[in-house]
Amino acid sequence: MKRPSAFRTILGSLACAGALAVSGGSIALAQTPAASNDVAAVSVPKPGYPRLTKLAPNVYGFEEMQSIDRGAFSTGVMFVVTSDGVLVTDGMANPAATRQVVDEIHKVTPKPIKWVVIGSDHGDHTGGNTAYPADVTYYVSPISKDTLEKEEASPRFKAGSWKLPASAVVVPDRKTLTLGGEQAEVMFLGPGHTGGDLEVYLPKERILYMSEVYLNYVFPAMRSATPTTWIATAKKALAMKDVRTYVPAHGEILTGPQTRQGFEKYVKAMEDVVANVKGMHDKGLSLDEALKQVNWGPYASWPMAQQQGQIAIKRVYMELNGELK
Ligand SMILES: [Zn+2]
Repeated sequence: MKRPSAFRTILGSLACAGALAVSGGSIALAQTPAASNDVAAVSVPKPGYPRLTKLAPNVYGFEEMQSIDRGAFSTGVMFVVTSDGVLVTDGMANPAATRQVVDEIHKVTPKPIKWVVIGSDHGDHTGGNTAYPADVTYYVSPISKDTLEKEEASPRFKAGSWKLPASAVVVPDRKTLTLGGEQAEVMFLGPGHTGGDLEVYLPKERILYMSEVYLNYVFPAMRSATPTTWIATAKKALAMKDVRTYVPAHGEILTGPQTRQGFEKYVKAMEDVVANVKGMHDKGLSLDEALKQVNWGPYASWPMAQQQGQIAIKRVYMELNGELK
């Protein structure tokens, strides 16, 4: 058993699929007790992965298997090649995995990576950021900046792990970037999976990178989310009728109009999960009773259902009881 040489210490805020892929198929277990349920990672080879998906002539999705559920789903980034350099959205869990992203980009273009948008502040999307060039400009929401700085100040933060540089550009609401003739809108549609979620919209290509607001065919992971707020944020993205392609940070990256249906299905899954739990709450079931009695129906077979289902019940109960800020 070998741990990655350097990865961001993942604190209790990690709610997502929380995977730490390790080359060679070995297993990595996070040592932080609060996060131990999230990051027992297994890197499982899967035919066709890692894979590159061309979303537009100069826009790509890249995915690799970094899963805690026996390789059941992928982690992905998007990158945009411009005449002046490359914009990347998010990263992977550890430097080796993000190095793969960098290598893949340089198979496509010799242009330097200049801009990285932190859509998700969770460790499985930032832990490998040291593999990006040291002089890239990061874009981050104020909420994620705060989250990352708290982690960095924690005694559990692993020395040598990536830190958000002071030069990071804070995007509280929306920022339009013109990069080598390409327009990219970095936007905060509202709190989603992490609370500080940023999206990136490419108006010319009509592509919206959702980061972890969209976990394609992965059970809604709510540890750091306010459930109904996440749904409201996702619906704002769905209401953007110009969008042709929705790109998730976990699960398959697909192209074109089918991605709208995929994202609609995901939003419905979140609504169904919340309604299911609310029904149990309304019946007066205790949290323990709800945890035992829940039946997720069609979502029971979604990756992460067993673990994240239990967390979802707790979070929905907390929200209904007014215990979430
Ligand atoms: Zn994640």
